Amino acid sequence: MTNKEIIVVGGGASGILAAIVAARNGAHVTILERNVRIGKKILATGNGRCNYTNTLTTQRDYNHPEFVADALDIFSPETALTFFTQLGISPKIEDEGKTYPLSEQASSILDVLMYELNHLNVDIITNAHVQNINKNKNNFTVLLADQTQYKADKVILCTGGKAMPSSGSDGLGYPIARKLGHHVTTIFPALVKLKLDYPYLKQMDGVKISSIVQLVHQNRVIKEEKGDILFTSYGISGPTILQLSRKANELVLKHETVYINVILVNSLSKDEVYQRFSESKDKPVDFSLIGLINKKLISAVLKEAKIEKQNTLVSELKDQEIDHIVNLLFSWKFVVTGSKGFEDAQVTAGGIDINEIDSKTMESKLISGLYIAGEVMDIDGPCGGYNLQWAWSSAYVAGLNASK
Ligand SMILES: Cc1cc2nc3c(=O)[nH]c(=O)nc-3n(C[C@H](O)[C@H](O)[C@H](O)COP(=O)(O)OP(=O)(O)OC[C@H]3O[C@@H](n4cnc5c(N)ncnc54)[C@H](O)[C@@H]3O)c2cc1C
Repeated sequence: MTNKEIIVVGGGASGILAAIVAARNGAHVTILERNVRIGKKILATGNGRCNYTNTLTTQRDYNHPEFVADALDIFSPETALTFFTQLGISPKIEDEGKTYPLSEQASSILDVLMYELNHLNVDIITNAHVQNINKNKNNFTVLLADQTQYKADKVILCTGGKAMPSSGSDGLGYPIARKLGHHVTTIFPALVKLKLDYPYLKQMDGVKISSIVQLVHQNRVIKEEKGDILFTSYGISGPTILQLSRKANELVLKHETVYINVILVNSLSKDEVYQRFSESKDKPVDFSLIGLINKKLISAVLKEAKIEKQNTLVSELKDQEIDHIVNLLFSWKFVVTGSKGFEDAQVTAGGIDINEIDSKTMESKLISGLYIAGEVMDIDGPCGGYNLQWAWSSAYVAGLNASK
């Protein structure tokens, strides 16, 4: 048991867990949180249900698999289940390992964490906007925007990324880290809706389909997802798109051309679709597509296929025109121009350079006594509980080692 004075900067998922672990290990812990309350983003997770872990998590799910391996070993999804079960959360494990509290309320997760913080006498100071962390010879001075100062033996930096800045995580952890000598890799929004350059988006707005989407770069499919796809007035959204968005954004940022390829028809063969056309020769072409694809997409498909009169009879179409329509049904490509930005993103790609962090302890390799956890570092994973799992795993390791 120790009596270390530890300051946790940022009361989000990682800050709260790091504080609990350090306090359980005997440290006196203070959380400094800029908001009026801690854990604001937790309440927004999983559409208000908090997908707090994923039982299928492996190190390969993250952008730096080797770096995350140790922390995921020490605080695995199984450990997370046990940790939260002991706090009172019964898990509800859904498809693909996504795990929620049985209450289906994100507030349950925050409630039990708050209870434990209080039980451990962790000091929670809100409206505390940290601006600077200075390393003195043997301790730290943490400086707030209002010039209040706090002293600590160890500091755990848990300021999160830049996704959903209204939650308090607006990227201010990066300049704090930079002033301490750390490098921050290029950051960009991940798990985010994508903007497309396409003239007919307005008429497609609101159409939701369940199908296959691919991310295409240099004529190669680099990622494919199956599930819900939502067309919007600015572009495309839905769980499938969120999973493709990190790679898409990374490439757009490098000024590469990337496409989203929507496969509208995936349960019939091309021959079967040609057969449909041959059986509806006496019908207008727009009518012939009813029952095959969403009605609100028909006009856009026909415009894209350069069919000028949408009520042309199928029998009057040239073979190339029918080929064009059929090809579009099996491969409809849209140029990605960007994303809806950090405001709409669920996670930040990039962050504090992991080469400057000890993966076994989460201690900075540049500043002894400074620990780093959660999304503020250059680690991100897909949608489905992986990012909170990283917040918990890294925070556990940071909290444990800071309090030794
Ligand atoms: C809408 C949405 C839904 C999501 N759903 C899921 C999900 O279901 N499952 C999943 O795994 N992940 C989900 N995520 C991602 C997940 O929430 C984050 O990866 C995770 O919260 C990161 O934890 P963190 O502690 O590193 O940062 P955060 O949770 O962002 O916490 C950082 C905290 O630090 C505070 N702070 C920042 N700067 C300062 C400062 N200078 N001084 C004082 N305090 C400061 C902030 O106010 C904030 O409270 C979702 C994200 C969003 C936006």
